[in-house]
Amino acid sequence: MDVVPRREAAVYEQLLEANRRALWNPFTQMEEFLAEEPLIVERAEGVRLVDVHGNEYLDGNASLWVNVHGHNRPELNEAIARQLELVAHSTLLGLSNVPAIELAARLAELAPASLTKVFFSDAGAAAVEIGLKLAFAYWRRVGRPGKRRFVAMRNAYHGDTIGAVSVGGIDLFHAEFGPLLFETERVGYPYPYRFDGSPQECGEACLAELRGLLDERADEVACVVIEPRVQAAGGMIVAPPGFLAEVARLAREHDVLLLADEVATGFGRTGRLFACEHEGVEPDLMAVGKGLTGGYLPVAATLASERIYDAFLGRHEELRTFFHGHSFTGNQLGCAAALASLDLFEQDDLVARVAGKSRLLAELLAPIALLEHVGEIRQCGFLVGVELVADRAAKEPFDWRLGAGRAVCRRARELGLITRPLGDVVTLVPPLATSEDDLAEMASILRHAIDDGTP
Ligand SMILES: *Cc1c(COP(=O)(O)O)cnc(C)c1O
Repeated sequence: MDVVPRREAAVYEQLLEANRRALWNPFTQMEEFLAEEPLIVERAEGVRLVDVHGNEYLDGNASLWVNVHGHNRPELNEAIARQLELVAHSTLLGLSNVPAIELAARLAELAPASLTKVFFSDAGAAAVEIGLKLAFAYWRRVGRPGKRRFVAMRNAYHGDTIGAVSVGGIDLFHAEFGPLLFETERVGYPYPYRFDGSPQECGEACLAELRGLLDERADEVACVVIEPRVQAAGGMIVAPPGFLAEVARLAREHDVLLLADEVATGFGRTGRLFACEHEGVEPDLMAVGKGLTGGYLPVAATLASERIYDAFLGRHEELRTFFHGHSFTGNQLGCAAALASLDLFEQDDLVARVAGKSRLLAELLAPIALLEHVGEIRQCGFLVGVELVADRAAKEPFDWRLGAGRAVCRRARELGLITRPLGDVVTLVPPLATSEDDLAEMASILRHAIDDGTP
């Protein structure tokens, strides 16, 4: 990396003061955050973030699971700059634009064959909500308005807007907003299955629950919503093999739509372009976001089947139109970044390389599984969760108030690795382009941080 002069300490103090005055960071306890010398990022290169003092940190959570090809990739920068010379943004409401059309065509080609239409938005939560609204409105369009309920998984995470929270299942984030949410049926996808619990048994119990629910009430159900293969924010809970395929089969058998939320798992994260591919699943609806632009710009999308799209066709006065849109739907800069990102996937043969490097990552993590305070490591591709426990033999969790996960991540930062805990699950989610050496360094820092940071 080029040598850049270190900023004066006074500049940091000024920024921190302004952060204190004006900025409210998300999912962040501001009182503690501002007291703990927050890291202020100034730039980044490859898999390294650089703060305003010039200190470097490995980006061990891919900037919240979005970064794919590393930061400051010239190909992505240039694609955005080229588009900027043409137009930054025009609306997609009643107008089209070149990169949005090209990106929709590319996505429809790459996605599971059932998905042929692409509806753009600007956040994963919006992409999920659009999927829910489409499912709800679809059944009304085809004369079955009674099919209006949603089935979601316990421990699921689908984003933070009210509709997405309604199908979410993480109490810590969701319980408070209960009175604002629509009712959702929940089935017990393998949680809590941890450590020595058998994933297969939990998976089967959940499938039995789903089958029972659908046998009885499929007439009322619009859609099943699921994070394919991995419940990411729920603690990197990996589903047993065959689980997803069976959920898809049950939905189809009962004439219920399947909405796959691939916001975290999409774009190579699990070692396939989409996690649905692991089990040959073809959903009716699919939400993508995060890695879509290589992690550069806020573009998300909801993909839909031909059958759903067709149900919305008609003359204006028939009121079959899907009345939904956002100011920045189909933003050209974002779509140009996404197209360039997809080019890089091909050029770098990235998905195949992630599959290979995931095996190396598993080897690198193996010594961590032996640490005194590690109960379990769960991994699917480049999504990793290390579950911290007070007592390894008894699999006894830490008192959550101790903040063991946070303490480990704080220590990791001191050692030069940025990541975030999900409760006492420490995550490692490297950018897909991370080199073998950098993966080894991330794993090594994580091991030391767990050693030093656990109470
Ligand atoms: C991150 C995430 C979302 C929400 O995406 P945002 O862009 O943060 O709104 C939805 N679903 C899953 C599975 C996610 O991991």
